[in-house]
Amino acid sequence: MRRLLIAGNWKMNMKLDSAKALAQGLKDAAADVSEVDIAVCPPSVYVQPICEILKGSNIGVGAQNAYFEKAGAYTGEIEMAMLTDVGCQYVILGHSERRHILGESSEFINLKVRAALAAGLCPIVCIGELLKEREAGVTSDVNRRQLDGSFSGVSADEMKKCVIAYEPVWAIGTGKVATPEQAQEVHADVRAWLTDRYGADVADVVRIQYGGSVKGGNAKEILSKPDVDGALVGGASLKVDAFMEIINNVR
Ligand code: PEP
Repeated sequence: MRRLLIAGNWKMNMKLDSAKALAQGLKDAAADVSEVDIAVCPPSVYVQPICEILKGSNIGVGAQNAYFEKAGAYTGEIEMAMLTDVGCQYVILGHSERRHILGESSEFINLKVRAALAAGLCPIVCIGELLKEREAGVTSDVNRRQLDGSFSGVSADEMKKCVIAYEPVWAIGTGKVATPEQAQEVHADVRAWLTDRYGADVADVVRIQYGGSVKGGNAKEILSKPDVDGALVGGASLKVDAFMEIINNVR
């Protein structure tokens, strides 16, 4: 039985005071939530203070990116082990904004996935097609190519520790949400990829989140689909009430 994981991607938003207030507000509001897993992913510079606020709570903390190399001369980068050092448990990798704005390839993301696993972090690995790719009928090819590249060399035991987030790029921050049927179709295809590559015992335990304009009003229908195991939430994770509405509607 897979537990739902509802994770908030705060992206490059808020100043420290509002980030801390959001974490404290969620900690209080979600104190009695035991049915689903919850995580928030603040900007890297706020990861440590947010970890301190959420320590001992039922809300995990993730970073939005980190580098694959071990400590050394990599100006501006953050090592995976630095994240675990401050109490972080998750790291989002391969978000479409990094793939498309910063030009990250699946091969580069793969180096980070393996480094995250080696450091004991749970990577939340994002995949997803562009609108023109969906319209061209190559959604499955694109997502499978991203899966092949991002998880190259990852063992079955390691794969069980990963989360996959299917985020159709055309649905991120646009207010356009995939229909529950569109989401389920891709999630089932991702699970079939997992089965082909790792076997049913791995495919049964890996959580596949949906991301793309998830809100309180649409979360329940999408997350009731059998292969949708949670949500990666952008805009609606920036306010206590909006994020809690999602959590309360799916728990
Ligand atoms: C995201 O940032 O991963 C995301 C899905 O954003 P939004 O919920 O705002 O579409």
